[in-house]
Amino acid sequence: MKKIIVIGAGPGGLAASLLLQARGFDVTLIEKDEHVGGRSKRVSLGEFHFDLGPTFLMYIDVLKQVFERSGYDLEKEINLIKLDPLYKLIFKDHTLELSADLKKNIAMYESMKPGLGQAYQSWLNDQTYKMTKIKSILEKPFPNVFHLFRPDVLKAAPVSHPFKSVYSLLKTYDRDDHFIHSLSFQAKYLGMASYQAPSIFTILPYLEHVTGLYHVEGGLNQINEVMAKLFKEKGGNLLTNTQVTKVLVEKHRVQCVELENGEKILSDVVVMNADFAYAMTQLFNQKDLRKYKKEKTEKKKYSISTWMMYLGINRKLDLPHHEIIFSDDYNQYLKDLMNGKLTKDLSIYVHNPSVIDETLAPQGKSSIYILLPVPNLKHGYDWDEESPNLKEFVYNRIKEKHGFDIKSMIEVEKIYTPSDWMKNEHVYQGAVFNLSHGLDQMLFLRPHNQFEDVKGIYLVGGGTHPGSGLPTIYQSALIADDLISKLT
Ligand SMILES: Cc1cc2nc3c(=O)[nH]c(=O)nc-3n(C[C@H](O)[C@H](O)[C@H](O)COP(=O)(O)OP(=O)(O)OC[C@H]3O[C@@H](n4cnc5c(N)ncnc54)[C@H](O)[C@@H]3O)c2cc1C
Repeated sequence: MKKIIVIGAGPGGLAASLLLQARGFDVTLIEKDEHVGGRSKRVSLGEFHFDLGPTFLMYIDVLKQVFERSGYDLEKEINLIKLDPLYKLIFKDHTLELSADLKKNIAMYESMKPGLGQAYQSWLNDQTYKMTKIKSILEKPFPNVFHLFRPDVLKAAPVSHPFKSVYSLLKTYDRDDHFIHSLSFQAKYLGMASYQAPSIFTILPYLEHVTGLYHVEGGLNQINEVMAKLFKEKGGNLLTNTQVTKVLVEKHRVQCVELENGEKILSDVVVMNADFAYAMTQLFNQKDLRKYKKEKTEKKKYSISTWMMYLGINRKLDLPHHEIIFSDDYNQYLKDLMNGKLTKDLSIYVHNPSVIDETLAPQGKSSIYILLPVPNLKHGYDWDEESPNLKEFVYNRIKEKHGFDIKSMIEVEKIYTPSDWMKNEHVYQGAVFNLSHGLDQMLFLRPHNQFEDVKGIYLVGGGTHPGSGLPTIYQSALIADDLISKLT
């Protein structure tokens, strides 16, 4: 039986381990942390529980496929809760609530401005068509430039408007700012601004509206916990608290991985789930790399980071499950953020899963997660210095919009900064959404699932094709599984 080592038990590594185990490979999954999940693990402060990172779960078809191919039924293993409403968006002068009921959305947009409901409907129709054309591009590996001439790619080209951004495409439906922002803020899931993100990513709000947004009882982290449990139950070897320090290569082919204690584990197939740029700069001898040597990797473009607050609150709060408080001048804020500037007028994402999930906080209390998109570590901010100001900003902003003083309700709190992402989760420059997703770093220009520099290495996770975000990360595991299965 062929032996496979998977480095990292994040969503990508766990999905790949389950899939490869189901094919009969002897899989050893190595995780440096005590717990699985990586950027998606659980954070607990006493009896208050939080997701460290992802809270929006969409397009569950891909996750279903991972479970199905591995011999499990997703819905039997995980308690998925479909959200309606989807989220509340609070702008300076207007508040919108988006629903899983498309008719409600049409009526809501129409009430904002005559004709806007029709603009939304046209946008939905176009996205439905676009999705049928681009699906296969996301599902297949993209190993070289010639794949641009595949029939499926050629068919997708006219509908994917490769030279338009999310923002400029939406403007063709209606120029209303709230309409555009409500269907483009999702570019931030990729760590980008809507005016930079290629227009193909208008499928993100489409997927939320049409295929739904989900919560998992206990938090999205439970997907990782369940995957790890299933992997171990079937005899999988999960080594936690075990850090890989080197991947050793001979004649361009992987030989073994070396652990912190000096032990070497031989394997001719290694699946890399650790952050791509961290792995290139830390885990390889530079002589073994060609395209992704340290100095080249450092020159790539990276996403923004996030500054986080996890708050145990001493009461139930009248806040929706997902809420975004947009900065007053959102266009300027996006420009500043993308230029690496920490402005005074930030957008805030507030997550209140306790409104539908009793398991996350003691009775009558709430677990609140707050996320501020901020510049990554390349821009030189001292996060110990910035954190007290950011905390005050959050308290004031919530008071201004909701009229209550959240600071006085805090029982426990944890702050997580871009430096923590790098130090604890090995995220290069704290750029939590990986290499950014411009056309110059996508498809065959993104690190390939079958790694170009070293034979026997396969990449999964947000740093490879198709990109960052849970559905695409699970898709990368499906692609790696397909590629590795051909080795037998
Ligand atoms: C704040 C935040 C919010 C997000 N929100 C969403 C969202 O709502 N929806 C969505 O779809 N996506 C979201 N994402 C993006 C993405 O889904 C997550 O970041 C996801 O966890 C990335 O998964 P991954 O498998 O690529 O890597 P990771 O989760 O980083 O997993 C990599 C694993 O490798 C391990 N590792 C690293 N180095 C070593 C080593 N040397 N030896 C052994 N193990 C090692 C790490 O400990 C980790 O467990 C969010 C991300 C963040 C940070």
